[in-house]
Amino acid sequence: MKKGIHPNWTDQAQVTCSCGAKFTIGSTLDTLKVDICSKCHPFFTGEMKFVDRQGRVDKFLKKVQAAEAIKSKASKKKSSEKNSDEESKTYKDVLRQQQTVLKQVAKARTQNSPVAKAQAKA
Ligand SMILES: [Zn+2]
Repeated sequence: MKKGIHPNWTDQAQVTCSCGAKFTIGSTLDTLKVDICSKCHPFFTGEMKFVDRQGRVDKFLKKVQAAEAIKSKASKKKSSEKNSDEESKTYKDVLRQQQTVLKQVAKARTQNSPVAKAQAKA
């Protein structure tokens, strides 16, 4: 070997994985930090796992959420334009429900009031 051009080789390079595993290999570096090793790689563990250092998956999921929100807004606009009759029906139904509830409450009040009880006794 030519002298002065080759890096120093060590057989005791300490490798530290992000999963916490540590082992020794031969390398020109003294210490190595790796994101994935044979103890945590899905190929060896058989589990699904995202190795996402730069938040790319999160970024993508945020984009998907934003796109879905825009889509749903657009579809709501379209549906409100097309199905204005259905919405008025549902509003009528809501009003009817409120009226029936009010009538029931009024009935209960008149039945439980002391004046009504006195009238029923007499
Ligand atoms: Zn690992």
